Amino acid sequence: MSAQDQNRIIVVGGGPVGMITALRLAQLDIPVVVLDAQAETPTAHRAATTHSSTLDLLDTVGLTDEIIKQGLMARYFQYRYRTTNEVFAEFDFGRLTDESNHPYAVQLEQHKTVAIALAAAEKFPHFEFHREHTVTDVTNAADYAEVVSETPDGSKHTWRGRYVVGCDGGRSTVRKSQGIGFPGFTWEERFIIVASYFDYEAADDYRYRNYLADPERWCSVFKIPGPAGPENKNGMWRNLFPITTDEPEEVITSEAYIRAMIDDCFPYAKDLEIVHSNLYSVHQRVADSFRKNRIMLAGDAGHINNPLGGMGMNSGIADGLNLAEKIGQAWRGEIADDQALFDQYDRQRRPLAQKYVQAQSIQNKETLQAKDPEKATARFEEMRKTAEDPKRHKAFLMNASLINMVREAAAIE
Ligand SMILES: Cc1cc2nc3c(=O)[nH]c(=O)nc-3n(C[C@H](O)[C@H](O)[C@H](O)COP(=O)(O)OP(=O)(O)OC[C@H]3O[C@@H](n4cnc5c(N)ncnc54)[C@H](O)[C@@H]3O)c2cc1C
Repeated sequence: MSAQDQNRIIVVGGGPVGMITALRLAQLDIPVVVLDAQAETPTAHRAATTHSSTLDLLDTVGLTDEIIKQGLMARYFQYRYRTTNEVFAEFDFGRLTDESNHPYAVQLEQHKTVAIALAAAEKFPHFEFHREHTVTDVTNAADYAEVVSETPDGSKHTWRGRYVVGCDGGRSTVRKSQGIGFPGFTWEERFIIVASYFDYEAADDYRYRNYLADPERWCSVFKIPGPAGPENKNGMWRNLFPITTDEPEEVITSEAYIRAMIDDCFPYAKDLEIVHSNLYSVHQRVADSFRKNRIMLAGDAGHINNPLGGMGMNSGIADGLNLAEKIGQAWRGEIADDQALFDQYDRQRRPLAQKYVQAQSIQNKETLQAKDPEKATARFEEMRKTAEDPKRHKAFLMNASLINMVREAAAIE
């Protein structure tokens, strides 16, 4: 093996998980190259909620203060009946004061988190970030790992290093290149996300994170800081609706169709201006393995879930930071058998992605959409009792904030 083969780590994907993993590697004095297919970080409406467990983890890499500064502190979240608007359960992260240095969630769009992590990483001379490099091929050799990227001019570039970390999202080329299965399922309905400047807090006392249950059309209402500009006076709001019809995309994404959904759910908001909308399919999948020889997966490359509960990015960041520490141990030669370390990474993160993220996100969706009236009443009653009982309230939050997930992972040998 040549020294050249072992002199850096290649991270594929500069989304939140790739960028934060790379930052940590750079902080550990490990040369790191990040390759991303896009010319710019997409500003599409995706993750916004950063949970307590993640804020605690991000403190260790120095990002939390800036995330709090740019974001909105969301201490409470609510469940309501959509038709009556009655709040049947409200949760308060403030009850986690003994468990977290950050007993709240922060609402900040994921592209802003990426920018914060990139600014921190760029301070290290051994950090490199190359945009418009689409990774097409991956080699997982005994002594090195290598990827080939293609740039818009059609030229190909080869990047060799000690390990490759695939943070290239749900359609991960890295995962597919290793023949790692991605079992799970795709929900029948699609989701549509709608953004506007309509102030739900002023109109109807909404918290910054709210779920509205209904057997036909559940929805969610979330506040985010939103883009800078004169039209943004007091933050932006997002609604998420399920789409159960097979009508063509141009119908579902038309203003008339979206407006009808808004009128149905929020009649008082009928004049709102739709600033953005996006229709997408929703999956629940976990990779068969998070590692193979010199290739590791983190974030959406290893697991994807519906966005109810805001757990995909959060659990992905926890993957990346866990993995970066293990790469650090291997890099410094503290453990002769690097493969044992990466097996431990797989044991610590993959089963818990099933146990916490998949199970909770599926349960969140089922609670909101419960169709059988008796079952729905029982579920809502259960939520109400959970919120009212201090012990159960806290236990619920320990899972929802992923604090339990991070702690349980750390205890797995
Ligand atoms: C509507 C919505 C709301 C959500 N809300 C939340 C939330 O509140 N909280 C939460 O935790 N999660 C949420 N999620 C999930 C969250 O968006 C994802 O879990 C998160 O983006 C995963 O980050 P990642 O870095 O693993 O992947 P991505 O963000 O998908 O980044 C992957 C990167 O890899 C690059 N890439 C892909 N292929 C290649 C290639 N071949 N070569 C080079 N680069 C490549 C892409 O350009 C991209 O930059 C939400 C998702 C949606 C859709």
